[in-house]
Amino acid sequence: MDCVFCRIVDGRIPATLVHEGERVIAFQDLSPQAPTHVLVIPKDHHQDVGALAAADPRALAELVAVAAEVARDQADGQYRLVFNTGPSAGQTVMHAHGHVLAGRDLTWPPG
Ligand code: 5GP
Ligand code: ZN
Repeated sequence: MDCVFCRIVDGRIPATLVHEGERVIAFQDLSPQAPTHVLVIPKDHHQDVGALAAADPRALAELVAVAAEVARDQADGQYRLVFNTGPSAGQTVMHAHGHVLAGRDLTWPPG
């Protein structure tokens, strides 16, 4: 299986890591949409956040905790954590990931 985020976990594609934990890593998004735009992903491949929750709830809990930590470290602790799930919701990489967006006012609802 050819998965860009598995390649980042393996180090075969470079990324700017901001955190490495037991079950997750966090790195800068290639195309940032806010002053802080970090992706937090499980090291193991799961298609989306629902599959991750079912298969490895501890990894999901670690992912959410790391997201909060990144928002505290890089911004003022206020953030949006987004899991696009399925192509029509904007998911383009089929390896579960949370977007941590922070550092500017975020409008609601999202597009
Ligand atoms: P999605 O659209 O699936 O919710 O989010 C995928 C995100 O991954 C996008 O924001 C995109 O900019 C980011 N992305 C895609 N390929 C790479 C890559 O090779 N490196 C990094 N750092 N981010 C990537
Ligand atoms: Zn993967």
